Amino acid sequence: MSDFTITNTVDADLPDPFVGKHLIDGQWISGSETFERVSPSHGAVVSISAMGSETDTELAIATARKVFNRGSWSRLSGKQRATIILKVADLIDANIERIAVQETLESGKPIAQSRAEVGGASDLWRYAAYLARTSHGDSHNSLGKDMLGIVVKEPIGVVSIITPWNFPFWILSQKLPFALAAGCTVVVKPSEVTPSSTVMLGELLVQAGIPPGVCNIVLGYGQPVGSLLTEHKDVDMVSFTGSTAVGKLISNACSNTLKKVALELGGKNPQVIFPDADLESAADAVTFGAYFNAGQCCNSSSRILVHEDIAEQFIQRVIALSKLVRFGDPMNPDTQVGAIVTADHARKIHAHVQAATADGARLELGGKIFSVPRLGKQFYQPTILTGVTPNMEIAREEVFGPVLSVLTFQTLDEAIAMVNDSDFGLSAGVWSDNIHTCLEFSRGVQAGTVWTNTWMDGYPELAFGGVKQSGQGREIGHYGYEEFLEVKSVLMRVGRSGAPWVQKRA
Ligand code: NAD
Repeated sequence: MSDFTITNTVDADLPDPFVGKHLIDGQWISGSETFERVSPSHGAVVSISAMGSETDTELAIATARKVFNRGSWSRLSGKQRATIILKVADLIDANIERIAVQETLESGKPIAQSRAEVGGASDLWRYAAYLARTSHGDSHNSLGKDMLGIVVKEPIGVVSIITPWNFPFWILSQKLPFALAAGCTVVVKPSEVTPSSTVMLGELLVQAGIPPGVCNIVLGYGQPVGSLLTEHKDVDMVSFTGSTAVGKLISNACSNTLKKVALELGGKNPQVIFPDADLESAADAVTFGAYFNAGQCCNSSSRILVHEDIAEQFIQRVIALSKLVRFGDPMNPDTQVGAIVTADHARKIHAHVQAATADGARLELGGKIFSVPRLGKQFYQPTILTGVTPNMEIAREEVFGPVLSVLTFQTLDEAIAMVNDSDFGLSAGVWSDNIHTCLEFSRGVQAGTVWTNTWMDGYPELAFGGVKQSGQGREIGHYGYEEFLEVKSVLMRVGRSGAPWVQKRA
């Protein structure tokens, strides 16, 4: 690993394992069984969580249903809901360090990144609070003199929120405050790999004064908790972020009761680099896009398309930068890339790299599992593969690791076709100083987000989501809020009916 930059391992005093309980109807409930999470970087048990059962899940759903129907949240004014959501935002800001440390220990991501993730999430809560006061529909005053029509928005009902391990606090904050702002009640199931920051957020909700039963949390696995949350007839909507494979299972499960389902799934996101671009910035963004969160990121730019004329020099630039990225102990504030989430996942990443070289790709950098001094062997080297062709598995499958595949192109049309030759459509990026190239690219590619001369920027105001097998529905922004609202038309007669259906016979 001498070619790479490894940060020092720090002497961190790890906190006692966090004890996570279910939150149902405002009560913290221990399970008769528990499950443990071992930190991927430190090898120590860092949380012990209640193991959700069918009974726990049934109870949480029944509670959310009862509380929704009672209207103690759904019929509050937007101002009242916003007041509580804003308090949660302030409490998040006051608890960043505690949540961030736990997130780092459970996920293996660098502490600096966890702090930014948790600290940044409070802005999502603030934006959702603002949206709570914007719900409105339409009025139709042109239906004739005896009729007025109004279209109102109502909360959709009980929402199941199921989240993954890669950005547990952020992804929950892309969903929960917006569902709450709309007036929904919820049952949340975090990933079994990173349950604790969701429980910590539950504590803040209680502290902020959310009425009991509005936000329920059940900890545990896909079976039985996740499954029941998708199949149950008393759930009106499922909001899921995770793998495309599980997303398809969830879509099927939801079809039995025809409930609404919003899916944020995987990606194989390309950055496309033209010769006229600011190549220094592009190389930096490609490095960031490949290694951020150790590539365990739905928006990872795991494939790049580089114009043939600049491919060789551009790759050399990215290789040089890759050697400077600071890998190592997630508890060191200087670290930029931490551990891989599980040993099993590290092996899967490695298998993808081996399959790529067997298919004829050239390994330019990395390609190995490695250990960090005093921490153990659950890290993966920054890895670059060139000579990748569109049909190789490495160009098509989501690797979810710090692995960059490099393809080349000659024309804009060819680049757009290569971007779209994918089952996924989450995000895509273009680097060029020519506005026409950027516009044509943005219009031509099939993706939920297009970045031009930047990568992975996001704002609470802008919708996020994918097309094709990257998902359906949108999160955050006004569009994300609308997902949690149902539309109702109300027709009101003005005066007495002048034209009865049944004519009286003389
Ligand atoms: P995963 O699909 O394995 O698990 C996600 C969640 O689903 C977990 O809480 C899990 O317990 C639950 N689950 C598993 N089986 C279930 C079932 N049958 N029914 C209901 N719930 C079930 O995903 P993961 O490994 O935690 O996360 C990685 C994946 O998430 C990657 O594919 C990544 O691209 C995707 N992801 C997408 C986005 C996005 O916004 N598009 C964001 C982050 C991650």
